[in-house]
Amino acid sequence: MKKQDFNEGLLGFLDASPTPFHATKNMTMMLENAGFERLYEEQKWELIHGKKYFVTRNDSSVIAFTYSKNKNYTMVGCHTDSPNLKLKPNAVIKEYGVVKFGVESYGGLLLNPWFDRDLSLAGRVSYLDSQNKLQTTLIDVKKPIAIVPSLAIHLDDKANKDRTINKQTDISPILTTNEDFDFKEFISWQLEKNDIRDAKEIYASELSFYDTQKASFVGLRDDFIASARLDNLLSCYVGLLSICSVEADTPMLLVASDHEEVGSESTSGAGGSFLENVLRRVYKDYDDYMAMIRTSILISADNAHAIHPNFSSKHDKEHSPYINKGTVIKVNANQRYASNSITISKFMDVASKVNEPYQQFVTRSDMGCGSTIGPITATRLGIETLDVGLPTYAMHSIRELCGSDDAHSLYKIILGFCE
Ligand code: ZN
Repeated sequence: MKKQDFNEGLLGFLDASPTPFHATKNMTMMLENAGFERLYEEQKWELIHGKKYFVTRNDSSVIAFTYSKNKNYTMVGCHTDSPNLKLKPNAVIKEYGVVKFGVESYGGLLLNPWFDRDLSLAGRVSYLDSQNKLQTTLIDVKKPIAIVPSLAIHLDDKANKDRTINKQTDISPILTTNEDFDFKEFISWQLEKNDIRDAKEIYASELSFYDTQKASFVGLRDDFIASARLDNLLSCYVGLLSICSVEADTPMLLVASDHEEVGSESTSGAGGSFLENVLRRVYKDYDDYMAMIRTSILISADNAHAIHPNFSSKHDKEHSPYINKGTVIKVNANQRYASNSITISKFMDVASKVNEPYQQFVTRSDMGCGSTIGPITATRLGIETLDVGLPTYAMHSIRELCGSDDAHSLYKIILGFCE
């Protein structure tokens, strides 16, 4: 696939995926179009060699795999979730002439950029239908319905010096001046847009705010891509297009997990049992299972910090990734990243063969290092793992920035792994 087509598809995927639920739904639609068959965890599996399958958990994580006779799988791991403002159960607050929503911050949110943005709301809703059955659906309001206004500088003369943000009191988005606003009516109206008119009771929802500004190319030569949720839908998209591009007899697996931003410990997170459960059903014989685990490699793809031109001292000078200079191999002596010399060498070898660049990242020794799904999956399964990521600025902002060359380059390297 050509880079321009690849990137345009990426922008569409980013815009259509405001929550992990929507990302998962979009990924499953693309997998179905590419000939993957859906499996259900609660049913019996009769797998046939040379076919391609996928399975979801919690509507927010997905595993796709080819069922090859060869056991040396190339696995790509990524995560579907991103930091955001999430609605509290009793969200509605009416005061000072406006209706606003109480929110929790999900993950390590960079809060400042959330002010003065045209926000919309999306997520999952559970309701009781007219047959007294519990049903679930996804909603996406799409239009800007809320905003978190900044406090004017005249009322806060320290705003540019030492402004702090209180997560309980300072970041409630405001919705309307109509104090008759009713939350259940609002949700019913959203359900009607999905042609659901028989919701008797709306019990619970998981709804997140998102920026309505679309993903776009930025820069004199379209050098950059600016978007919400690049961490980590960028890697999801690379993994998805890679697995959709390989033949059915090529051993490849994609695992896109929820809840990475909050530590991965959930049924659908990388710390949960999802991947292991799936693999044990594919390889029922324990020796076969272990042979597959020990001959496979997991490429854990999660964005990396490019050196910021205005804050260069935050990086180790010798390990400072640049935008548009290739995939970043992440190393950490304390195993915050799972890369080792063997998995790194394999990656470098494949990248060299397909003529794509790579860079190396080590966090400054006097700074803490983040972690990701790589070490968690390596620990759970005992699979040799490599942590990589695409260089980005503004990680966990409401609008992040990556290069327009790098994602397509990683896609080519992953396809090189599968050859
Ligand atoms: Zn991430």
